[in-house]
Amino acid sequence: MKKDYYKILNLDRSASADAIKKSYRKLAMKYHPDRNHGNKICEEKFKEINEAYATLSDPSKRLSYDRGDEDVNINDDFSSFDFFEDIFNHHSTESSTFTKPHKPRRIINLDVYITLEESQEGISKYIDIPHDIICSSCNGKGFDHYKTTICNICNGKGYSVHGNYFFQIKNTCAKCEGTGYIRKVICRICNGKGTRRVTEQVLVNLEKYICEGTKKKIHLKNFKGDAYINIRFTKHTSITHVGLDLYITVKINVFQVILGTTYYLSVLSRNIPVQIPPYSKEGDTIILQSQGLSNNTERGNLYISIKSVFPTHLSTEQIKLLSKLL
Ligand SMILES: [Zn+2]
Ligand SMILES: [Zn+2]
Repeated sequence: MKKDYYKILNLDRSASADAIKKSYRKLAMKYHPDRNHGNKICEEKFKEINEAYATLSDPSKRLSYDRGDEDVNINDDFSSFDFFEDIFNHHSTESSTFTKPHKPRRIINLDVYITLEESQEGISKYIDIPHDIICSSCNGKGFDHYKTTICNICNGKGYSVHGNYFFQIKNTCAKCEGTGYIRKVICRICNGKGTRRVTEQVLVNLEKYICEGTKKKIHLKNFKGDAYINIRFTKHTSITHVGLDLYITVKINVFQVILGTTYYLSVLSRNIPVQIPPYSKEGDTIILQSQGLSNNTERGNLYISIKSVFPTHLSTEQIKLLSKLL
């Protein structure tokens, strides 16, 4: 005798498509194998509910079923399971009665390095941001749901029966673990991970006088979550920075250090004349107020440390002149 799909879904024969969906959702939640570990009665019931839903949710199949046609539910792809997962996930975000763990929001934090000069002048630059996106081939499931099939070992029953007319042993099907269907056909595109690594290029506009450590929120087209970049300064070849202050060591001919000179220091795209007073010595520091980095409201200082360079070779004339000093 044919199964009464309406009775299975607790519906009367005039049930609307919406009512069918609602009832199916309720029952599928109740009997889902994940919530009834190892309970064979629930598994059977779950299969039955899916079978009923597969027919009644499809208008042409339902019509055929109502007419009393045979073989209505020839549904070897079990596509209703996809639907079930859809409403399953949907439900979990809507209702607190369901205990599916809440997924933490995805966050990207990427350090972006810019030069001291760029920090002072502002810059627009393209930044490559690698992140994972949902595999479009398997829709994030990690398996190709379109290839979900009824288990070919137990033919969808979830068990096999051994023995004879008088004595029978029911064994849970090892291949489908009693579910009656094989759904985890690994997705070849993402290798079962459900996600794929992509690199998205974003144009970031960094304003003038941006500080180190600034965190900026960015928008990625294909990323659902919060993405930030953290501004870092690249190590300068000759300048050290501490906060807004800059430190630099300049090498000056020892005679100029003694006599005093004007030294032209090229720093942050500026050419600053630095007065080295007479009788300076190795290790002396000249402080130029407000010549360091700016953060728009204040400017740091520039600390210039003197290093004397001694000649390694002198001409006869120079030696004569130096000798006169002794
Ligand atoms: Zn099986
Ligand atoms: Zn995939």
